Amino acid sequence: MSRATETSIFTEMTELAHRTGAVNLGQGVPDLDSPPALLHDVSAAVLAGHNQYPPAAGLPALREAVAAHQRARYGLEYAPDGEVLVTTGATEALAAACLALTGPGDEIVTFDPCYDAYPADAALSGAKLVTAPLAVEGDGFALDADALRAAVTGRTRLLLLNSPHNPTGKVFTEAELRTVAEIAVEHDLTVVTDEVYEHLVYDGARHVPIATLPGMRERTLVVSSAGKTFNVTGWKVGWVCGPAELVTAVASVKQWLTYASGTPYQAGIARMLGAVEDWAADLRGTLTANRDLLAAGLAEAGLSPCRAEAGYFIQADIRPWGFTEGLRFCRELPALAGVVAIPTSAFRQGTDPAPWLVRFSFCRRPEALRDAVKRLAALGG
Ligand code: PMP
Ligand code: GLN
Repeated sequence: MSRATETSIFTEMTELAHRTGAVNLGQGVPDLDSPPALLHDVSAAVLAGHNQYPPAAGLPALREAVAAHQRARYGLEYAPDGEVLVTTGATEALAAACLALTGPGDEIVTFDPCYDAYPADAALSGAKLVTAPLAVEGDGFALDADALRAAVTGRTRLLLLNSPHNPTGKVFTEAELRTVAEIAVEHDLTVVTDEVYEHLVYDGARHVPIATLPGMRERTLVVSSAGKTFNVTGWKVGWVCGPAELVTAVASVKQWLTYASGTPYQAGIARMLGAVEDWAADLRGTLTANRDLLAAGLAEAGLSPCRAEAGYFIQADIRPWGFTEGLRFCRELPALAGVVAIPTSAFRQGTDPAPWLVRFSFCRRPEALRDAVKRLAALGG
């Protein structure tokens, strides 16, 4: 069975949570509020009859809003017509980019651990995924430039970057990104950068899109999505920006995957993106408090938390509880403590240097987090 046809760890663990009634800190599925104006706009779009296929590239209003967002926030210029494509979540953008730009005999380089769609996308396109391990640095992770250089060969076509990073919660620093960019330029690689957590960065860390670095805009496809930014993961509206030639290649695959993506959602998100800064500042506050609550609870329960400076997730070391293997721990945890988590090993490609790491999500209401922490403390504290 290839990676592309295996049951995803999210499916397994979410089913386990439903079956056992455990608090689900596995899949990154938020139960936090969405912007009321966004919900209103989407409902209004549905009732106003905006329910048929939009243009395949996406509603012009959303493409314009995405271009305006990239310009205002990062100083990146994209033409709404031709350099922005709306997709069915970031998931489709990533799959379509791999399918469009790689095939059998090609290699895609990414970091290890990585989001589990990447190996599946490589498998779908017939390319080989080659990974460069991130280095462990204190309670966090860092770029290992030598490992990245060693992963790149004459067959490498794509470099798949994810910052802020799932599952580690790492934000690549500007210095690290400069090194990645240098390697991409030196080997003439196309970079696909998954920035779905771009707004969810904490503790003063700064998200730098690699496309802003010298020589990178022309070789980079920037992927993002509304799901995490507005707590609407079920709407599956994402987008990809880049030079017209690359975006056209992705669009040509997208038309055979889904053709187009949810019309009324696009209408609402187009408006909301213009007001994203105030909304995102509040959401960062909520998520920072959630992360702190969960990190303190994990520590109190005797599970050592890693640093998480972005996104939805925090990893913890389960060895203090006498476990060494995350998958076994996660399969037993619902019965033991009534909590569901995801083993970081599910995001590993090569030999796992730390099979004892487990990922817990904090994109849940504080009540759910407090409940989970209490359950964990009862067992381990
Ligand atoms: N990339 C990363 C790193 C993710 O964590 C996720 C999870 N949702 C996605 C992509 C998929 O995004 P979407 O729901 O917009 O397809
Ligand atoms: N991105 C989510 C996570 O990492 C999961 C999305 C999915 O289920 N495919 O938990």
